[in-house]
Amino acid sequence: MPIEDLLKNVGVDFQEDSVHEEIMKCVGCGLCLPYCPTYREVGTEMASPRGRIALAKEYFDGKLKITPRFAEHLYLCLECLACETACPSGVKFHRIMEPAREAIKKNLERPLWDRMVRDMVFKHIFPYPKRLQLLAGFLRLYQVSGLQWLVRKTGLLRSISESLEETEQMLPPIQPKALRDALKEVTPPLGGRKQYRVGFLSGCVMNLVFTPINLATVRVLARNGCEVITPRFQKCCGALHLHNGETDIARQMARYNIDIFEKLQLDALLVNSAGCGSALKEYGELLKDDSRYAQKASAFSQKVKDISEFLVEIGFVKPQGAIYRKVAYDDPCHLIHGQGIKFQPREILKSIPGLELVELKESDWCCGSAGIYNITHPELSMRLLDRKMAHVKATGADLLATANPGCILQLRWGAKRAGLKMDVVHVVELLDQAYSKELE
Ligand code: SF4
Ligand code: SF4
Repeated sequence: MPIEDLLKNVGVDFQEDSVHEEIMKCVGCGLCLPYCPTYREVGTEMASPRGRIALAKEYFDGKLKITPRFAEHLYLCLECLACETACPSGVKFHRIMEPAREAIKKNLERPLWDRMVRDMVFKHIFPYPKRLQLLAGFLRLYQVSGLQWLVRKTGLLRSISESLEETEQMLPPIQPKALRDALKEVTPPLGGRKQYRVGFLSGCVMNLVFTPINLATVRVLARNGCEVITPRFQKCCGALHLHNGETDIARQMARYNIDIFEKLQLDALLVNSAGCGSALKEYGELLKDDSRYAQKASAFSQKVKDISEFLVEIGFVKPQGAIYRKVAYDDPCHLIHGQGIKFQPREILKSIPGLELVELKESDWCCGSAGIYNITHPELSMRLLDRKMAHVKATGADLLATANPGCILQLRWGAKRAGLKMDVVHVVELLDQAYSKELE
């Protein structure tokens, strides 16, 4: 039996130790409060990072029991990590929040329907790419058969709940072919001169819904001398599970992905979704108490790079094709706060001839997407989105760029709500477009 398990048997819990360590870093100064979107919107201490840390501390000290109210306070958090960027003491807030949510998951008796939905989504669908693809197939059938048109025309969902109708309207068009079926496992570098061998995590939702963004990513990498390996049997990164207290499943998925990618001898493992990149960079932390995987996980995480981070690092080929548009860039929380990546996407946008980049006020402020927050907390999510879109409108831009699938969907919906006729795209799509214009 590994030493960690033996110690756990006599009461030493590694995870709880590291949570306490993180909690103790918080000196209660409150400097994070003005940067917290839920605190700014709700205005109570319990909706702030400091309040949530205090609650978690009470629980981990054994002074507080988990109740629905406790869970409500902790689940009101977006996990946007803006408090981590703001905190002068270096508190890694997510390292407190994720174990706290795991404790909620294990100790709070939820209604039967709630448990069933959670189990269905987290245990029985997301860890299995084929089931996810089957679900996407049903959704596509719903979209193309005329049923979606009928549901929208009759306002059926509105009669149940307005937020349900809004969620349905955010549903993006499901692609006829998933990326892993539309792409060979190995894409050679353009021009045949290989400089890097990279892996590509095509994601779960990205793979089914954002095939064009993924194809653009692979083309851009090939243009920059990369041989791109997109393993067919990779799985979801587990970010959604981590943020929802399903840590054990997240660990299983992490182990699976490590096994898939580690044998490929890669220079880097690339991601174009900020949320996934942030989760993959945390595999080392997630599996640090797993004697078989700790080292492999840490080596894996060190290879993970966001696409913009990698391109800037290798000195990407500057495009010659022009795009005559005015673009604003919105920072995904898990890119700017989760990975500290701020200037790289802007550098890529600035390199495109004709493209005018304008700064967006509160670009580092969450758009309200936050995983499934727009489904679980639709009212607050829409308030944050409307605040964001007001700033977008003020820029006068006709194009909005970002770097995370959830943000793209949310911002597209925001543009519609605000009556703005603007495209919302991934940064890498614009670079790909500029490259392709060179050939015109
Ligand atoms: S999390 Fe950081 S900034 Fe916020 S109260 Fe604690 S020490 Fe201060
Ligand atoms: S993660 Fe975001 S919403 Fe949650 S406490 Fe920190 S700043 Fe507030």
